[in-house]
Amino acid sequence: MYQANEQRYDKMTYNRVGDSGLKLSAIGLGLWNNFGSVDDYATQKAIVHQAFDLGITYFDLANNYGPEPGSAETNFGHMLATDLKPYRDELVIASKAGYVMWPGPYGNWGSRKSIIASADQSLRRTGLDYFDIFYSHRADPQTNPTETALALNQLVREGKALYVGLSNYSGAQIKVMAGIFSELHTPFIIDQPRYNLLNRQIEDDVLPELTVEKKGAVSFSSLCQGLLTNKYLHGIPSDSRAKKATIPFLHPAQVEQTLGTIKALNAVAANRNQSLAQMALAWNLRQPAIASVLIGASRPEQVVDNVAALDNLAFSPAELDQIETILAAQSPIDWDAK
Ligand code: NAP
Repeated sequence: MYQANEQRYDKMTYNRVGDSGLKLSAIGLGLWNNFGSVDDYATQKAIVHQAFDLGITYFDLANNYGPEPGSAETNFGHMLATDLKPYRDELVIASKAGYVMWPGPYGNWGSRKSIIASADQSLRRTGLDYFDIFYSHRADPQTNPTETALALNQLVREGKALYVGLSNYSGAQIKVMAGIFSELHTPFIIDQPRYNLLNRQIEDDVLPELTVEKKGAVSFSSLCQGLLTNKYLHGIPSDSRAKKATIPFLHPAQVEQTLGTIKALNAVAANRNQSLAQMALAWNLRQPAIASVLIGASRPEQVVDNVAALDNLAFSPAELDQIETILAAQSPIDWDAK
């Protein structure tokens, strides 16, 4: 029987999400990859236990996480039913709807029909009574934002979600949704954008809007799916995401295209006595709006390495300049490369 580490709250930092009452662990664990029905369940449990033992309280799911879609929620539900049950009130568990989940016109995007049905499915798979945060996973260009907002608001009114969030929305879309949520008194507190040293689009758009709205953020792909770690410094290992045929999101071409930058960033991290992963996470956390940085992990040791980022979060102006110079030399990255 799992017993959580009694010292789990001693070292983790907890940051307030915008001007809400909720605090998140500065590092959160995402279950997009490595928690599916195709992955070893004992390893999954070891990763989750390691995370909680180090004070990580934020666990990030979505309806479609697996593969197969839904299986990450099912697996996390098993852990909740067994090991984590006594700790439910110590956890912030999030899920999302918005990407394709079941066939036909209702298993995708942001209609009331789709969001409510998907949230109910996610609750059944996890065995939870409610999610702490429920997100619209992406803006739906064909559904009026008011309809999506009302669906999320309904989840809160029915006790199926405590807070709501948005993900992959532009600054302008966040502004519109924030206005609607404000009228409805919906507890919209958080945005979940992609953000890392190699993906900085939100600096001009989303982050300023979140600051105006007094909302928080949790960054995803904070390690650029492993590129911003020591994983690829000496080639592409066979046990890496870039080698996995099931995952079409990180490709060897992107590893090759960024290798010079990664090596140069690694040298800056070494001078800070940090791993590259630790420096990448610290760099994200320097943004005042970012309450938490999500990490993915394929083994417990990666969680340990990443949480140690909190030992050195400060950057000198010279270090920030060095990083800017390195990033400026990177040619535009073809993220659609196959
Ligand atoms: P990431 O943290 O950028 O990359 C995770 C991968 O990096 C791991 O699977 C591992 O790769 C490698 N890694 C992690 N720590 C390492 C370390 N210390 N040393 C060496 N390698 C390390 O994660 P991500 O999966 O792209 O995103 C994290 C979470 O964000 C997801 O699980 C999900 O919850 C969320 N997310 C949300 C959206 C959205 O649309 N809202 C989109 C993407 C992700 P290997 O597996 O190769 O070992």
